[in-house]
Amino acid sequence: MKILLNNTSLFDSLRPFNDIGFVPTMGGIHQGHLSLINKANKLCKKTIVSIFVNPKQFNNKKDLKSYPRNIKKDLKILKKSKKVDFVYLPKFKDIYTDKKKSKIKLLKKDKILCAKFRKGHFEGVLDVMNKLTKIIKPQKIFMGEKDFQQLYLVKRQLEQIYKIKVIPCKTIRDKNNVALSSRNFLLNRSCLNIAAKIYQKLANIKKKIKNKKNISSFLNLQKKEIKNNYKIKIDYLELRNINNLKISNTKKNSRLFIAYYLNNVRLIDNL
Ligand code: AMP
Repeated sequence: MKILLNNTSLFDSLRPFNDIGFVPTMGGIHQGHLSLINKANKLCKKTIVSIFVNPKQFNNKKDLKSYPRNIKKDLKILKKSKKVDFVYLPKFKDIYTDKKKSKIKLLKKDKILCAKFRKGHFEGVLDVMNKLTKIIKPQKIFMGEKDFQQLYLVKRQLEQIYKIKVIPCKTIRDKNNVALSSRNFLLNRSCLNIAAKIYQKLANIKKKIKNKKNISSFLNLQKKEIKNNYKIKIDYLELRNINNLKISNTKKNSRLFIAYYLNNVRLIDNL
């Protein structure tokens, strides 16, 4: 596993290869990341993982500051997996080479779910993914369905611009079905227990949806119930079509999307 600390070393190392699988991460490596890496390793000759906490996609300074960072531990896990050929650890100036402001704007129809509650977040994500793709020039990019809206927006943008495929990867969960996330490192046991209960509740809601005439009013009631039961803030609880992310009135081709806070840590999931 070769560690690439700047763009010169990246360009030199990757030049000979034309079947590169790329797994972008912000570190805090866990089994969810490793599942993307396994898939990249199976489908591509070379696998590169990036670790870069992109400040431009954080709409909240406190969130950026508290984001889990542990490069030493991350490198140890990646090395042990034996599935990673290159780790790219860019500095801010490797990614943002000039002072030009990004022109990326979301369409009105895309300002839903996390885009509605985290202003500027996806503009930052799309910008950094565009830049990373230009620098690394992978053939395939592996991204998790846990961040479904991110996957949807990045796939649409990058596949339009470059000759690449963005490959969706299933959400990996812990033994209590809580979706793995680097942010879980910020939660104590009791918060993780609540997250497990919320997962159970969502699975139940999803089951019941089939028989409901007015799904959005049913979901509104459920949202209030969860909010009051656990005394938490919920940004959204919505059923949306997986192909266009429009509000859905049927279980078919749909997922239930949630974003909520535990101890000021924002968690998202979809099922
Ligand atoms: P992050 O480091 O949180 O920015 O995530 C990097 C990539 O890993 C993104 O494509 C995420 O969707 C993906 N990912 C994060 N958590 C999981 C998970 N539990 N299962 C599958 N993929 C995940």
